[in-house]
Amino acid sequence: MTLTLDRPAILRWLAETDPSRLEELWREADRVRKEHVGDEVHLRGLIEISNHCLRQCHYCGLRAGNRDITRYRMTVDEIVACAKQTRSFGYGTVVLQAGEDDGLTRDDVTQIVKRIKAEAGVAVTLSLGERTVDELAAWREAGADRYLLRFETSNTELFSQMHPPRGGQRLARMDLLRQLGPLGYEVGSGVMIGIPGQSYDDLANDLELFRELDLDMIGVGPFIAHPATPFGKNEPTDFPGQVPATELLTYKTIALARLLCPDANIPSTTALATLNIAEGRELGLQRGANIVMPNMTPPEYRVYYEIYPAKACIRETADLCNRCITGRIEKLGRAIGQGPGASPNLRRRARGEKQKLERVAPAPHGLRRP
Ligand code: SAM
Ligand code: SF4
Repeated sequence: MTLTLDRPAILRWLAETDPSRLEELWREADRVRKEHVGDEVHLRGLIEISNHCLRQCHYCGLRAGNRDITRYRMTVDEIVACAKQTRSFGYGTVVLQAGEDDGLTRDDVTQIVKRIKAEAGVAVTLSLGERTVDELAAWREAGADRYLLRFETSNTELFSQMHPPRGGQRLARMDLLRQLGPLGYEVGSGVMIGIPGQSYDDLANDLELFRELDLDMIGVGPFIAHPATPFGKNEPTDFPGQVPATELLTYKTIALARLLCPDANIPSTTALATLNIAEGRELGLQRGANIVMPNMTPPEYRVYYEIYPAKACIRETADLCNRCITGRIEKLGRAIGQGPGASPNLRRRARGEKQKLERVAPAPHGLRRP
């Protein structure tokens, strides 16, 4: 039996500090993860293909206004070579991520996707920001499987302040997200935890929106201040009810996302590993996550993909990341996933079945006792 978590229960869990009660949350999230997506941890090779960006997000070091970073854009051959290396490590997916870079044209990305499909034979996830529906349709047609676009926060006022609109005829991010499923993509979104001005109510809304959007992939990571951005001051905000950008709150959000969206793929993110290099990834995997995204970006570029400072694994090679991550997963007693590892949620959506929503016994904060 899965459980329902109503809004008061979500808010109580987000505020919970009692370690023994939190153990119940971790246990339940881990149980539901095992039941719905199994023990396999799927690896996605992350290739950061360009750090050019024309947006001015208040949180991100790649924002156009940051003149202090060296900009790069990988060539098609370099990207395809990384995808082949990803395949040689046995991973079934590459994630191509970039700033919102018009230098990566519709035709460039089409060519990249087609070549990766033909030469590396892996699933392709794109994470290229807000692009036009026409571009998204062309890339899907070329063979792209998945698209990741975090809504960052469900608080629309906060989002438009911290993510100034681009203008023109483009669809708003939320409308774009709703277009991805009908185009045939497996759809990923997510949020940052601890954005200045984000409240517990916002975070509860975020969790409810994950379920409403029926997401196939949910990425949740702590906000980490970058000094070259408007949100870069490490000062406490005077906003009452500010959500802290902590590891603990990130684990709670991952666990609650797993309970609300049991069939989704949920990564244990690099931002989490940045806060706790020793065991952040592992704890994420033990509290609801089932995906890890080892960095495949060539070392000469990855140092410049600085969305926040001191990013985990920024000085490693792909080979080192592969060995480190597979070793950590095996130590947890979990298996490395084989094949593309599509989200079970997508298969359920394809069958036209609704998400399960069952009543549970009244136990602490809406969880049933074992
Ligand atoms: N440009 C694309 C976009 O915005 O969707 C993809 C690249 S962007 C760097 C990927 C994600 O990085 C964003 O969705 C955001 O959640 C995360 N990010 C950006 N700045 C961050 C920060 N300071 N701390 C934590 N995560 C951050
Ligand atoms: Fe650009 Fe994405 Fe960073 Fe915003 S979050 S500045 S769109 S790379």
